[in-house]
Amino acid sequence: MDPARVFDEFPAPSYRGNQEAALAAIRDAYADGNRVVLVRAPTGSGKSLLARAVMGACRRADDATATDPIGAYYTTPQVSQLNAVEADPLLDDLAVVRGKRNYDCILPHETDTPVDRAPCVRERGFDCDVRHRCPYFSDREIASNRRHAAMTLAYFMRTAGSDAFGRRDVVVIDEAHGLAEWAELYATIELDRRTVPDWSDVDVPELPDLETAAGFADGLANRLERRADALREAGSLTAEEVAERDRLADRVRELRWFVDDVEAGEGDADWLVDRTDGGVKFLPLNPARYLHHTVWDRGERFCLLSATILDKAGFCRGVGLDPADVALVDVEHTFPLAHRPLYDVAPGRMTYEHRQETLPKVARLLVRLMARHPDEKGLVHAHSYGIQRGLAERLEQMGVAERVRTHDRDDRDEALAAWLESDRPDVFLGVTMEEALDLEGDLARWQVLCKAPFPNVNDARVAHRLDGGRWDWYNRAALRTVIQACGRVVRSVDDTGATYLADASLLDLFDRARGDLPPWFAEQVDAMTTPDLPEFDPQAALAGLDGAGGRDAGSRGRDSGSMEGLPANHPLRDVWG
Ligand code: SF4
Repeated sequence: MDPARVFDEFPAPSYRGNQEAALAAIRDAYADGNRVVLVRAPTGSGKSLLARAVMGACRRADDATATDPIGAYYTTPQVSQLNAVEADPLLDDLAVVRGKRNYDCILPHETDTPVDRAPCVRERGFDCDVRHRCPYFSDREIASNRRHAAMTLAYFMRTAGSDAFGRRDVVVIDEAHGLAEWAELYATIELDRRTVPDWSDVDVPELPDLETAAGFADGLANRLERRADALREAGSLTAEEVAERDRLADRVRELRWFVDDVEAGEGDADWLVDRTDGGVKFLPLNPARYLHHTVWDRGERFCLLSATILDKAGFCRGVGLDPADVALVDVEHTFPLAHRPLYDVAPGRMTYEHRQETLPKVARLLVRLMARHPDEKGLVHAHSYGIQRGLAERLEQMGVAERVRTHDRDDRDEALAAWLESDRPDVFLGVTMEEALDLEGDLARWQVLCKAPFPNVNDARVAHRLDGGRWDWYNRAALRTVIQACGRVVRSVDDTGATYLADASLLDLFDRARGDLPPWFAEQVDAMTTPDLPEFDPQAALAGLDGAGGRDAGSRGRDSGSMEGLPANHPLRDVWG
């Protein structure tokens, strides 16, 4: 890598905000010998352009010996972020490749068949005479050979060890704040009727310790491998059999990794065994080990970008980096404080024991906020489907349902798309929409956080960490989500959007985690006020609907579909089969 080249490689004709200063700090950090640079860049700092500049500084073939890695990867856990990169003309030299299921086979009579169910995966020895034109294989070939390749983190991790995507000089990870959690998710092994064919025939014994669990996993892997081999040897498979073969191959790979990791840990491996209703989960407690072969071994230098890497030492510990090899570059926020106000409107606490009392007050509050914003679309972060349902029922009883939209687990993407496309000032009660949502301008002018988004203490891994006193991790996880959420409605320097905090626990969180607030967010918290809201008046809440059109229909693309039992918004949807 030649850090000095970052300026020449910046893809825009001129710098905006603090981009030039950020590039200088990034250059210096690499020049000082750091292997990893964390770039804490708030919304609107043009992270993707900084990413491209760093990628452009990678070693090139002309400057390399036969064994030097060359080129760069761009990867992100968020499919929407990869979509944005692909659509950006300034980033058109990033060769994007996606999972097989995102492409259609082009053979006659197979045009609605995704590549992961096409004849080349269904029929043994199938020789496709148009493979050179196949959209998937052609994108993979281009990405494999281009200097700059881009893919989701799921695809990137999945291709560890592949010939096509070997070690490169530079790896950029965008939206990297949740890297440890993503790795935990990818490395988690779920065994139940959804993930293991013929699960009802599997007898799960007592698993009192990891050694016993590894013995069970080994036996199960052997059994599944025999079934996968039988399918592989069959001349021709149906689409269902292909799906089964792929699921078997995934489970065998995961189970072998688990067994190897337990054996390598010699009784000190970091896994939790969690018996679930009708199944069992193996939960990794140390995702850093998983990240070594899937991420850290894949590059010489790394650049990790996010608005919400809150604590360098804690982040490094979570992902297996030595803080001594890591530099932190802070990019200042350029959006005026007045454009991103926070409002304290909390009528109480939304903790489990107070929720019954507080939820009706939050519903009344929403009616008053709707009256305050009669003509503007708003997003309500409901936090859970239980809270969402409780609010929707009460809003219906209050007579304002006409302006309220909801979604469930299966129609999340279509309902969101329909709301985004609509010109009506509707209010969307969303669940897990704190990240990866760009509500620029009139797409939403206001939003409400209904509950402090602490990790779920019923999750075995969360409970284990809290048993170990990891309250700093617990608070930071919630704070990170809050800061991500606050960025949804203010997307550019001229954009404005109000964020209302409806849970008093959020205010406690800001006090407890004060030292972890990025300076630009601390400014927002310090400037927070309590607004004068209109009185409760359902008619006033609906006033902006006069003249607004009827409900619009949503649309559903391939990316919205389910993938063999995974929820529609599951991050592994992008992984190739
Ligand atoms: S390689 Fe051929 S058979 Fe396979 S998906 Fe592509 S076009 Fe279809």
